[in-house]
Amino acid sequence: MKKPNFIQENVSLAPLTILRLGGAARFYADIADESALLEALAFAQTQSLALLILGGGSNLVIADTGFAGLALRIKPRGIHQQSDAVVTVAAGEPWDEFVAHCVAHNWAGIETLSGIPGLVGGTPIQNVGAYGQEVSATIQTVRAYDRVAQRFVHLSHAECGFAYRQSIFNTTARERYIVWSVTFGLRVNGTATWHYPDLQKRFTTQPSLHEVRAAVLDIRRRKGMVIDEADSDTRSAGSFFKNPSLSVDEFAALNERAANIPHYPNANQFKVPAAWLIEQAGFPKGFTAGRVAISTKHSLALVNRGGATTAELIALMRQIQDGVEKRFGVRLQPEPIFVG
Ligand SMILES: Cc1cc2nc3c(=O)[nH]c(=O)nc-3n(C[C@H](O)[C@H](O)[C@H](O)COP(=O)(O)OP(=O)(O)OC[C@H]3O[C@@H](n4cnc5c(N)ncnc54)[C@H](O)[C@@H]3O)c2cc1C
Repeated sequence: MKKPNFIQENVSLAPLTILRLGGAARFYADIADESALLEALAFAQTQSLALLILGGGSNLVIADTGFAGLALRIKPRGIHQQSDAVVTVAAGEPWDEFVAHCVAHNWAGIETLSGIPGLVGGTPIQNVGAYGQEVSATIQTVRAYDRVAQRFVHLSHAECGFAYRQSIFNTTARERYIVWSVTFGLRVNGTATWHYPDLQKRFTTQPSLHEVRAAVLDIRRRKGMVIDEADSDTRSAGSFFKNPSLSVDEFAALNERAANIPHYPNANQFKVPAAWLIEQAGFPKGFTAGRVAISTKHSLALVNRGGATTAELIALMRQIQDGVEKRFGVRLQPEPIFVG
């Protein structure tokens, strides 16, 4: 099959990621509609090319050697109201613009997810969460292209298999589905969520959705968690490490190594803040290794100070993982997706 004209060759992927890291894609296309998607997939199939789906590039770490296959950026936009606060949102819609839209309509359910970068289609992949809400609580269905069945399908909430930073899209069915739109069920005139400690500190009575959104954005800005081109502390992939969930025995072993470990019971597990482990293992905020560093505002964010390589970032990641493991016997797991 001849290469469709809209597919470009040797396109640098670094500018398409928030970290601004990574080499070029052998082939690349912006995908605006279903027919372009199907044409691009047919090209990939005839050329036996691996596929990389890009959203906003906020959770991606791309190798310096780039990607030898076809990278597709999913671009369709649109928010379609089905009924009351049930809305179907195209995968290419910027997530935070959708949150603002819901707050403006007084639809509750995603207000504490304000300020998370990326596109709507990326949110089900790792079931994004922050400040007491997870996107899965409002997702009713996901419409996606199924690369195995070779057709568009609707996946119910249950079929998405959501858990902490997890869904079928990043586990059992990794790379099988291309999310095309997501249907959310929000609460008309619902009350805002504010049970998370950082939010409780700010209010004494039930805040409005607007107030919670403003508070979350303020907290996130102070932590460098709202993208700001002028601030290299925001050139990150967000939280780089997941908070480890330890079994009773693992948590007991951890307690033998240190006292007063902050923890939250979670089913039969103990969740321990990765940020605390990192700081206590000797990696303070602002810890720098050449052109990469830990953000000066947030212990969990690894940042590109400018001109760095992915290899440098990975070396810092391993240094932190090894340091935490040596001190506490716990191996931190990274949150972003690694490509190449
Ligand atoms: C400063 C900062 C703060 C952040 N804060 C948070 C936070 O508070 N909570 C949180 O959970 N995350 C957070 N993140 C991580 C990230 O923003 C989310 O995971 C986001 O949902 C990723 O969306 P994206 O469109 O950028 O996806 P990308 O980074 O482009 O892609 C991420 C993964 O999803 C896949 N993907 C993307 N779109 C699609 C699609 N349409 N179909 C199929 N697969 C797709 C990609 O192939 C890749 O595997 C943060 C990141 C940054 C940089």
